Amino acid sequence: MAEYDAIVVGSGFGATVAVSQLARAGKKVLILERGTWWQTPEHLGVPPAGGPAPLPQWAKDQDPPHPVQYWPRPDHKDGLIDLLASVRHSHNRDGLYVYSRFDECDIVSASGVGGGSLIYSNATLQPDLDVLQHIGLELDDDDYAAARDWTTKNRGVLNKVITKIPLPKSRDVMNLGPEDYLYLDRARVHRKAAAAVSQKRGIDPPAPWTPLDLAIAEYHEDGEGNTDVNKRHTFCERQGRCVLGCLPQARHTLNKTLYRGWVSDPAKGVELRPLSEVRYVTKADGGYAVTYLDYWTAGGDEKTVTAPAVFLGAGTLGTNEILLRSREHGLALSDEVGQRFSTNGNFGGFCVDTTDTVQSNRGPVNTCHADFRLSSGQIMIEDCSIPSMFAAIASTAVHIMDGLEQGHGFFGWAHRVLFEAKMRAAWAAKAVPDLEAFLPHIPDTYKPDDSRTEAETVANIFFFNCMGQDEANGRFRLDHDKLDLTWDQPVADQPVFGEIEGLLRDFSEAMGGRFVPLPGWRHFGDRKLAITHPLGGCRVGADRTDGVVDEVGRVFDESVDDPQAIHDGLFVVDGSALPGAVVAHPTMTIMAQALKTTKAALP
Ligand SMILES: Cc1cc2nc3c(=O)[nH]c(=O)nc-3n(C[C@H](O)[C@H](O)[C@H](O)COP(=O)(O)OP(=O)(O)OC[C@H]3O[C@@H](n4cnc5c(N)ncnc54)[C@H](O)[C@@H]3O)c2cc1C
Ligand code: SF4
Repeated sequence: MAEYDAIVVGSGFGATVAVSQLARAGKKVLILERGTWWQTPEHLGVPPAGGPAPLPQWAKDQDPPHPVQYWPRPDHKDGLIDLLASVRHSHNRDGLYVYSRFDECDIVSASGVGGGSLIYSNATLQPDLDVLQHIGLELDDDDYAAARDWTTKNRGVLNKVITKIPLPKSRDVMNLGPEDYLYLDRARVHRKAAAAVSQKRGIDPPAPWTPLDLAIAEYHEDGEGNTDVNKRHTFCERQGRCVLGCLPQARHTLNKTLYRGWVSDPAKGVELRPLSEVRYVTKADGGYAVTYLDYWTAGGDEKTVTAPAVFLGAGTLGTNEILLRSREHGLALSDEVGQRFSTNGNFGGFCVDTTDTVQSNRGPVNTCHADFRLSSGQIMIEDCSIPSMFAAIASTAVHIMDGLEQGHGFFGWAHRVLFEAKMRAAWAAKAVPDLEAFLPHIPDTYKPDDSRTEAETVANIFFFNCMGQDEANGRFRLDHDKLDLTWDQPVADQPVFGEIEGLLRDFSEAMGGRFVPLPGWRHFGDRKLAITHPLGGCRVGADRTDGVVDEVGRVFDESVDDPQAIHDGLFVVDGSALPGAVVAHPTMTIMAQALKTTKAALP
């Protein structure tokens, strides 16, 4: 008899939903996660009473002990060394940040208990249903209500954190009247620019501007939210570094959810093996055999564990890789595995020299968005913080690129080459780059605008984060056992990116500054995309000629005649199942789809 009822691969959004539903149904669950635990090094002034022991203590007491690492710490440029040390690569398997480089795009994802929640910016958003219909994803308002309910119960209340200080819940954050100055500066500037762009383009009614729902604990003088923060004894301090780890522990990350909910209580029947990297899945007597590399207890030796059910939640890159490799090991899967990857239309850029101060290092990473409908479909333009740790480098790089954009010929080019050389040398030496020569001016303490705090260097640089409807036609394949991603036609030519760039130019003009593209798009790269929302490759489809999994995430079986036949007990529960761009941050959709899958798996 198999030791476990189910194996869950990964511990990100889809995987954690699966674990929670399986555990509630009394199933014995094993989680295989390739990363370690991560948490803040800071202690709360008054720790919450009750609850399980602090995670590091629990981790130390286990046999064998669980590995725990701590967020990159210094909130200034020296923090970049910590950050470098937490990038995952073949010599640093326990790194947190995964930077996957492909020819046409770079993709950022996470490796650790809690998956993408460890490094994401907390935005928890339901996409427009017509966008879902366009990609053939059958989720409705009830599915999203279930996802919202799951996240509220298991993680905490969602909040709009858009003001410099917490406000009572009873205040209408869309309309603060004369206290408009209480908005975070970049949110106010974003709102004003969105209205101006609508007017310039004759968009009537104007593109809606909305504060984001964030999975962050926020203090309110009244209302439901306070129960939440009183329980946690912490709330958002507007430190602007969510993607680098929240020092006050205000973010609702999934490592906390897993630890507090299931892993710390043996009675719940959930076991987690960290540093366990799954290679492939094959059929076995009574279910499936999952083969993984055990870096936790066996120095990377291969091990196999079996169960009647397997839930793949290794994220878009991880699950595509596992299923492509599983097919090589004989698992009969649709030819569609790896096809139809979507960038979620991810695009970014800067506005330099905004007329109004934007204080980009303050507040949550994303706070608000404006939604446009252009010929490529829906486009979402958001604000984005520049964490203090990046402020000096971002300011220098943006000013160099601004010079190049404005055609400052040879000097701009020479600056860029020197900047690149310094960055490469620092990367190789794992040191902080010496950027003194690039900083815009020599200090003069008589001048009010001549200072160099992190806040000042990015006070007038606005950072945009955007999403749109791409054609979802990237292809993953294994090249010498490594994941590769390609397109038949250059992905950068897809209309959505040109339309977003046009909007960003208009936003920049409305902000009184100049548009500067991301370095990979122009000047430091050739129209290379930077993706944080990789989706698809194992997408939902009507049958195996159209997708890899059915509507409820069951994997199609290629070995029988019926094109809708499925592998009993094999499921995909992560972003790889989404069949295209959702034009919203995807975690809410991943959770909704994972709930649908587990509901079908546990009748
Ligand atoms: C900087 C940044 C900011 C973001 N901000 C937001 C946001 O605000 N809102 C939002 O909705 N989305 C955001 N995203 C996207 C979001 O993080 C992802 O869409 C989401 O995490 C995907 O969830 P998932 O369930 O598909 O898998 P993931 O959360 O990616 O989890 C996959 C897990 O599987 C593990 N794994 C991978 N391969 C293996 C293997 N072979 N064996 C064992 N374990 C494996 C990984 O270590 C990881 O823990 C952001 C992403 C980034 C990079
Ligand atoms: S803004 Fe700062 S305090 Fe608030 S959630 Fe993000 S990292 Fe935490």
